[in-house]
Amino acid sequence: MSAVLSALIFVFAGTACASPERHSAASTVAHIKVAGVDYVDIRIAFGRLGFKAVWVEREKRMRIHSDKVEIYTEDGKRDVTVNGLRVLMGEPAVFRGNTLYISRIDADALFLPILSPSSVKTPPAPALRVIVLDPGHGGQDAGTQNKALKLDEKNFTLDVAKRLRVLLEKQGFKVVMTRTDDRFIPLAGRAEIANRAEADLFISIHFNAVGGAPAVNGSETYVMTPQFHRSTGSPLRDPSDSVANPGNFNDPWNALLGYHMQAQMVGRLGTFDRGLKRARFAVLRLVKSPAVLVEAGYLSNEAEAKKIATSAYRAEIAEALAQGVSSYALAITTAKR
Ligand SMILES: [Zn+2]
Repeated sequence: MSAVLSALIFVFAGTACASPERHSAASTVAHIKVAGVDYVDIRIAFGRLGFKAVWVEREKRMRIHSDKVEIYTEDGKRDVTVNGLRVLMGEPAVFRGNTLYISRIDADALFLPILSPSSVKTPPAPALRVIVLDPGHGGQDAGTQNKALKLDEKNFTLDVAKRLRVLLEKQGFKVVMTRTDDRFIPLAGRAEIANRAEADLFISIHFNAVGGAPAVNGSETYVMTPQFHRSTGSPLRDPSDSVANPGNFNDPWNALLGYHMQAQMVGRLGTFDRGLKRARFAVLRLVKSPAVLVEAGYLSNEAEAKKIATSAYRAEIAEALAQGVSSYALAITTAKR
């Protein structure tokens, strides 16, 4: 522990904070508004879960930790790490008074479910029997491509979904696929299949590509952007951010699901961790169950594309996703107790 790091240590008991209040001896209030967004003192948001907050770099970077979990957050940044995993908040942390603040929605709909699923009161922890797998693209929609290697995303998404179906059925889940062959299904149609099947969980499987940046590689996981937040890729807020979509019903469980999927994917595949992100993709917006969209790797990166092209690696991807489901299942079971 460095001298800087040991400069300040805060310990909190569970603190109710329904209204603005003075906090400890410091000139800091529990809640503030920044550009119209509600923020909460990080020491209170995490203190209610028994976490301690410590400056790593005074007035800039904090380490928040319990016995098992370690989080780093920084003034002005939406990026945090949770046990080393990259997680994108909806709004950046801000420094005010003598502490960092995070948005109330990030505190309640991102960190609370990930760190303490049993503390989430609404909606109740979901069931987990029917899982809908959605292999991205198909038919005339090839998805992303690596033309030099003659690789189409649509074939790999279907292959991984079929492998994952076998693994999940072995675990006793009922699995429904949005497609089992090379056909085009509109995005809304995929959500309809899930909703008609009364899905408890929806997993959309994709591979990434980016033009002109062949070095870019790694895995990322998307869940629905919470109501009133902007998506990870949106630098600005938009009036449509305030719309409540069907996918917002499960905001806290989406975060928990996304965290476990991303953790297992990068943990098992050893891919570069591009993070747990938020987007209002059509399938995430329209599906009524907890839902996740995984981008397992980049077809535009030659080394990663060559791996994805092997059936052995696609089997590993399926194993990682199945493990993500298992660890999410364990977390919601714990939450129900
Ligand atoms: Zn795709």
